[in-house]
Amino acid sequence: MGRKPLIVGNWKMNRTVSEAVALARELRPKLAEFTSVDLAICPTFTNLDAVGRAIDGSNIALGAQDSFWEAQGAFTGEVSAAQLKDVGCRYVILGHSERRRQLGETSEHVHRKLRAVVACGLTPILCVGESLEEREANETVEVVSEQTERSIGNLGAEATGKLVVAYEPVWAIGTGKNATAQQAQEIHVMLREQLGKLLGPQIAAAMRLLYGGSVNAANAKGLMGEPDIDGALVGGASLVADEFAAIAKAKVS
Ligand code: PEP
Repeated sequence: MGRKPLIVGNWKMNRTVSEAVALARELRPKLAEFTSVDLAICPTFTNLDAVGRAIDGSNIALGAQDSFWEAQGAFTGEVSAAQLKDVGCRYVILGHSERRRQLGETSEHVHRKLRAVVACGLTPILCVGESLEEREANETVEVVSEQTERSIGNLGAEATGKLVVAYEPVWAIGTGKNATAQQAQEIHVMLREQLGKLLGPQIAAAMRLLYGGSVNAANAKGLMGEPDIDGALVGGASLVADEFAAIAKAKVS
């Protein structure tokens, strides 16, 4: 099927400008050999410009952690997809569970953001995932399906051609409890089937589905070995250069 793996670091609200640049500089040589995977790091907004310069000309792309749905205007505190493109971003994480849960972001908001990101020619990384209560109530498939469908909405196959979806069970994010490779693979298969119904089987077969939730150097090999897991969205471990490099390596070898 030829899906090129993608490993993304979500640095969340961490690092000052100089610390972020130092981490990017440390990562650069450690990741240089991994040319068969796509690599991206997503620093906080204030660090995008400096980190973008630090990785310029490398095999690491720049990404942002969110963007607003309007292109410009009176939206205090927001950043548009066009502004992210202007600063050198190629990817934008959307609908992260921390935003859905702590900032009241709904799938309808995510849909509007997705539209704007796609319209700018950037690659959205749409996050979906169930909470522990939902998993225990056997609602995982329903929750993940509903988030995916409502976030993508009526965006057609053409518009979503570059879309990346990250399955991130909320109970596994930042908790040290990762989904097993089998649990993750099972949801990825279901997700791909659902995306096939929404966007057509060809688009779904070509779409990269990432797993996120406590991925680290120790568990990456098992998770990345599953046929429908096309890479990882990495939080905590992406702030440690050797850990992130080991995760990339796990998808290469
Ligand atoms: C994330 O925030 O997207 C994430 C997966 O975090 P962590 O790897 O720390 O669980």
